[in-house]
Amino acid sequence: MSDSPIWHPFTQHGLGEPIPLVTHASGAALYTADGRRIVDAISSWWVTTHGHAHPRIAAAIADQAARLDQIIFAGWTHQPALDVAEGLRAIMPPALTRVFFSDSGSTAVEVALKMALGYWLHRGTPRHRILVLEHGYHGDTIGAMSIGARGAFNRAYEPLLFDVATIPFPAEGAEQVTLDALAAALADDPAALIIEPLIVGAGGMLTYPPHVLATMRRMCADAGVLFIADEVMTGWGRTGTLLACEQAGVVPDILCLSKGLTGGAVPLAVTMASEPIYQAHYAADRARMFFHSSSYTANPIACAAAAANLAIWREEPVMGRIKTLVERQRVRLSALANVPGVANARQIGTIAAVDLPGGEVGYLSDRSPRLLAFFRERDLLLRPLGTTVYVMPPYCIDDGDLDEVYAAIGEAAGL
Ligand code: PMP
Repeated sequence: MSDSPIWHPFTQHGLGEPIPLVTHASGAALYTADGRRIVDAISSWWVTTHGHAHPRIAAAIADQAARLDQIIFAGWTHQPALDVAEGLRAIMPPALTRVFFSDSGSTAVEVALKMALGYWLHRGTPRHRILVLEHGYHGDTIGAMSIGARGAFNRAYEPLLFDVATIPFPAEGAEQVTLDALAAALADDPAALIIEPLIVGAGGMLTYPPHVLATMRRMCADAGVLFIADEVMTGWGRTGTLLACEQAGVVPDILCLSKGLTGGAVPLAVTMASEPIYQAHYAADRARMFFHSSSYTANPIACAAAAANLAIWREEPVMGRIKTLVERQRVRLSALANVPGVANARQIGTIAAVDLPGGEVGYLSDRSPRLLAFFRERDLLLRPLGTTVYVMPPYCIDDGDLDEVYAAIGEAAGL
């Protein structure tokens, strides 16, 4: 039993796993109270893009905290929020004209679903059905779980989850099955399709090609069904482009962003919407306003961090760093792919993943805690999804650290 009253997320306290105390972080490294330097190979749950404690983001947070810490966002505004909205408008697809703030990836997704249903209701043709992609993950609130894969993550809550229509994942060679299922589902007049573009993350780091994404988007447009891209994981350069959708020439009707929006320093999310979705809510009638808020909507300190992140994207060679990291991962992954016990090596942009089959598969595989412990002993923050081990580092990780990460995964394959 731990002495701390803290109940950690996705942690089985009954296993007594050690919970390291982290005191500070810099770049791709975390430092613990007992003097260890840990390589953060998963960007602290996929959020840290430029590196931990980036001086520009840290300074923006400190400055804003002393100036204006919090202001209700219903009917009030502030400069950092205006800067973030303008900054996003300058780099995101022009059709996404409106920016709605919230606090996490899950809430960005909840907002997207509510916008979609509001759009249909206010047009006078209510629709409720949501189409989803198999193996999807969109967060852990009830709505976000409802549109995600059912299984170990949410078995206890399943009676509360609403029904969705699930389109099979476009596995290699079976893309047409996906498209046929989508065509059939679109005929039932759903409200929207929500997808993770090019790679489903928590569902196992499974990739699919841009042409399938492009076709799915075109089919939704032809059927007049809203297309929601959840770029909470894939956004901010993770797949090698600012948005994964770019690689398919796709512009969604609604876009969810979080994680790297603040460079990974503080929580913030946005849901960007196209003009027709905003206009469907726009009226002199108060009953048609968008009924979503949280106390900290567009918190100024979080917005200041996001504005600093946007400035980094504008002024520093972020895309160059990403391109280099993509190559450095590619070289190491192709070597790892030849190690016995390593299967299904795959990469999209800065994200690389392998499966270490053998024994039980799935998230609750017994092998998973053993792998976690092995990596922890090596001072590496790697958190396998079942027997899938993935690397999603901050863009500033150096060669030495990457070498250690890949060497450890190679060794783990023999465990
Ligand atoms: N969507 C996707 C694609 C995600 O990967 C995640 C988080 N891993 C979420 C939504 C939920 O984000 P959050 O944990 O910030 O609520």
